[in-house]
Amino acid sequence: MKIIETSHIAKRYIMGTEIIDALKDVTISVSKGEYVAFMGPSGSGKSTLMNIIGCLDSPTSGKYILNSKDVSDMTENELAEVRNKEIGFVFQTFNLLPRMTSLENVALPLIYAGYTKAQRTERAMAALKSVGLEQRAGHRPNELSGGQRQRVAVARALVNDPSILLADEPTGNLDTRTSYEIMDLFDQLHSKGNTIVVVTHEDDIAKYAHRIIRLRDGLVETDVVNANPTKVK
Ligand code: ADP
Ligand code: ADP
Repeated sequence: MKIIETSHIAKRYIMGTEIIDALKDVTISVSKGEYVAFMGPSGSGKSTLMNIIGCLDSPTSGKYILNSKDVSDMTENELAEVRNKEIGFVFQTFNLLPRMTSLENVALPLIYAGYTKAQRTERAMAALKSVGLEQRAGHRPNELSGGQRQRVAVARALVNDPSILLADEPTGNLDTRTSYEIMDLFDQLHSKGNTIVVVTHEDDIAKYAHRIIRLRDGLVETDVVNANPTKVK
């Protein structure tokens, strides 16, 4: 079953008289349960592609089918709805709300989904448990280590049971040892059947993925199976 299917996607930015073709012709498909890394040098189009895959932006031309829905020509509001349902985002900077506890941060996406308070607490606790942080439910971000903060962010990303976990440079603000902690977590989530897309410029991080797609100048340069993904243990 395909989760991501892009067909000849292009993205053009026009800045004054300058035309930038950030993506020129990108056709990829990702199946349910895959663990993929997008790599490429700065300016190759990674963020642009991530924004399109994550329904933060639309392509200028081409087709994007997300979980059997054509999202290519959706309005901002329609995109926002699909995004909340289908995508769990993890960012380099964690983006947790500082005055809220771990549990409250993780429960936040459920408010918009219309759950009762009791249901929200139950689901948020289950998500915290899945990242090994149920003991830190009452802590605020500044009472947590960097790795723990990112695990809270992963729990928040997963709490709505999205079809894709989409992580943009998830270890960019972490030291090497803590990075392994997060990659170990991604490994476990992949084993449980989650579909994971990581965008990174770091080889060491991409090597955990089971497939590596390399972009250059807005095109797919290589798309290879990683037969020997790095394991933490
Ligand atoms: P990467 O994430 O691989 O560094 P980007 O997708 O950010 O690449 O950028 C690809 C190209 O598109 C670059 O030339 C960049 O300057 C340009 N670009 C990205 N976003 C915008 C934007 N919002 N407006 C204009 N140009 C942009
Ligand atoms: P970069 O990869 O350049 O460091 P970020 O990781 O901060 O940038 O963000 C990648 C993209 O996701 C950007 O286009 C940004 O606007 C968007 N983004 C970042 N944080 C959020 C958020 N909390 N909600 C929605 N979009 C976000």
